[in-house]
Amino acid sequence: MNDQSPNSWEMRADAATFYGFTDLPSVRERGAVVLTHGKGPYIYDVHGREYLDANSGLWNMVAGFDHAGLIAAAQEQYARFPGYHAFFGRLSDQTVMLSEKLVEVSPFESGKVFYTNSGSEANDTLVKMLWFLWAAEGQPQRRKILTRVNAYHGVTAVSASMTGKPYNSVFGLPLPGFIHLTCPHYWRNGQESETEEQFTSRMAAELEEVIAREGADTIAGMVAEPVMGAGGVIVPSRGYFQAIQPILKKHGIPLISDEVICGFGRTGNTWGCETFDFMPDAIISSKNLTAGFFPMGAVILGSELTDRLQRASDAIEEFPHGFTASGHPVGCAIALKAIDVVMNEGLADNVKRLTTLFQAGMAKLAEHPNIGEWRGVGLMGALEAVADKATKRPFDGRLSVSERIANASTDQGLICRPLGQAIVLAPPFIMTEDQMDEMFTKLGRALDRVFAEVA
Ligand code: PMP
Repeated sequence: MNDQSPNSWEMRADAATFYGFTDLPSVRERGAVVLTHGKGPYIYDVHGREYLDANSGLWNMVAGFDHAGLIAAAQEQYARFPGYHAFFGRLSDQTVMLSEKLVEVSPFESGKVFYTNSGSEANDTLVKMLWFLWAAEGQPQRRKILTRVNAYHGVTAVSASMTGKPYNSVFGLPLPGFIHLTCPHYWRNGQESETEEQFTSRMAAELEEVIAREGADTIAGMVAEPVMGAGGVIVPSRGYFQAIQPILKKHGIPLISDEVICGFGRTGNTWGCETFDFMPDAIISSKNLTAGFFPMGAVILGSELTDRLQRASDAIEEFPHGFTASGHPVGCAIALKAIDVVMNEGLADNVKRLTTLFQAGMAKLAEHPNIGEWRGVGLMGALEAVADKATKRPFDGRLSVSERIANASTDQGLICRPLGQAIVLAPPFIMTEDQMDEMFTKLGRALDRVFAEVA
């Protein structure tokens, strides 16, 4: 697999590109997969090998890798007005139209949108907005941010501090004032003889305790993904958001839904907060926002936060924040098309149709003696590998079981993602039923092969 000759793509990739989020020993042994192009849900490497990408890139290439309408939207906008910012009261017509569209399709009656280049920056921006508005309202001490263990909110210093993953300790993060509540994963974190309802109540009680301990008047807001994506597709325990939201409301703490993965169709509705039936104060969007065709993030503020932030900004005559490419005209033109493709051109319907097939396929694979649970919603799911199904005992981490399953899948031309001891699937919304069969057949073979080696 790994071509070691000096001019091979594998060696050139490692020689000049600094890898992030990459298992270095494994990629050096196997060689990087250097890609040239894509077609529908397939990607192709420099050797002409074909891979079915069951993760839609990083959850985001929901319309596949060659969508003609999205390519045309980009080309037309590049020809018309290829770049601009949104500072000093100058911004593109596409930016104005996208803001109107995002407010229209948001769950909010009214609102405003702020643009970034990524989901991380959107979370950073949101935190700065909260710090800014509390300070303007005379409560500058309200700076703490609540998130959960296992949450993923990004990699900038602030969004990495929001992220609840131990690997950030190598950077000396989290920063002070970022508090991580228990991950609401009933299957793994529920105590013996605790019902799901009791578990949810325990999560709510913990939130009450944390607020009492820290002081509500020191907390700026809480940010949560409807389903934790990079945490391993953790679907919250039943009634979780209904239990925590009234507590936050009582203490005047805004709840922000990080919909970078869940937004625009992944959970079967436009928004994850719709699927899980709660009304956030703001939404963080990225990834599907442009169907992965342009790097872009957005903070969509609901009406109350809009009013408060507008007042705070008006008082000092500006909100001193923005990126060079905030509201980039090409990104906005692509996003307008992507929203149309997902919501009006049948992709959302395809998600609904494929979900039944997807979930049946996951349930079937979960019959394997070494799969402890399958979990998911809409077109996102995870299979959790266990050494012992009855006791839920995980495999010895040194066996790298999920990485081996992902590698065994890649060998057969299927891309899926190891996360902890789970294998995660988030197929593009354009998949056909045959492609879904191909995905499950290949993954089934990979599971059989690896479990036969390690179990
Ligand atoms: N929030 C969530 C829920 C995410 O899944 C991600 C990326 N996986 C981010 C934020 C960060 O987005 P980006 O990688 O674009 O910075």
